[in-house]
Amino acid sequence: MTQDKTISRERRAAALNSWPRQWPSRLDRRSFMGRTAALAGAALLPQTAGAAPQQYDLQAIEIAPDTYAVYGAREHFTRANGGNIVNISFIATDDGVVVIDTGPSLRYGQALKALIEKTTKRPVTRVYLTHDHPDHVFGNQAFDPAVIASLPGVIANMKTNGEMFAENMYRLVGDWMRGTELVLPGAALEKSSERFGSHEFELIRMAGHTSSDLVVLDKKTGVLFTGDIAFLDRAATTPHADLALWHKSLNELEKSSFATLMPGHGPAEKGKRAIEQTRDYLTWLETTLKSAIAEGLDMNGAMAAPIPQRLQAVALAREEMARSVSHLYAKFEEPFLPVVSNRS
Ligand SMILES: [Zn+2]
Repeated sequence: MTQDKTISRERRAAALNSWPRQWPSRLDRRSFMGRTAALAGAALLPQTAGAAPQQYDLQAIEIAPDTYAVYGAREHFTRANGGNIVNISFIATDDGVVVIDTGPSLRYGQALKALIEKTTKRPVTRVYLTHDHPDHVFGNQAFDPAVIASLPGVIANMKTNGEMFAENMYRLVGDWMRGTELVLPGAALEKSSERFGSHEFELIRMAGHTSSDLVVLDKKTGVLFTGDIAFLDRAATTPHADLALWHKSLNELEKSSFATLMPGHGPAEKGKRAIEQTRDYLTWLETTLKSAIAEGLDMNGAMAAPIPQRLQAVALAREEMARSVSHLYAKFEEPFLPVVSNRS
């Protein structure tokens, strides 16, 4: 049984590695209606039986010269928000438009592309993906894969996790995902910077939110696009986090020279508040969880810990704390468990 499982896992890994850039349409979703109907029961029916298709209402907000933010809601994925919970950015250069992340679905990617055309009247020349999480990459399909680029580690994570993320997104936001396929980047970033027009983009390799996170600094405007290394006024998510590496990345960012910080979630601001708040939240989370375990509390006990006053205004602090406990508890509990001999 165990052996069978191992073999099938290896086969699956081999299949994923050999997949072409654009995934085959087996995730599309012949099974989509069946899957969502089974999961959602009748709740989905009114939406799919004749209702007008949902449209994302995307707005471009200028945060620096020729630099625009498209803000998502500070919420979880829901059928109401269509997965639009993420910040996307774009920069209009003389060599075309540089885009940071592409959003949660094909439909979002198309709306983003239309917004970029309307705002800048220029073609997209480069798309950077900050990391592999689904709210950041499932709009790829609306863009030419040849211009989409990320770190080799991000591409590897997309190959490993993409199928699972697609399944989750269909389950969580339903019809908004219709037709969405994962498109892998056509370019793996090896260089530490790229220039488009008069903008030089420094490409900073980090880790901690996931095993590979790309941070982009536009040296012309001083805008730092952190992806999910920094959150602001929205609690950080930790399902693939390495907290020690994450702190290291935050410390490095703090030392770097930038004017405006554009976080993966939450408002762009001048200054370092996003770095400080993300660090504060992660430190509180780890300290609280470790002391709960040391006190012998179970997961429910750990999840009930009070949110400190200074973090109470952070959106989703309670919910994200509970989610983090559920996937970090076992790891943090390990040092407290009695050592059991393998020989018995
Ligand atoms: Zn993320």
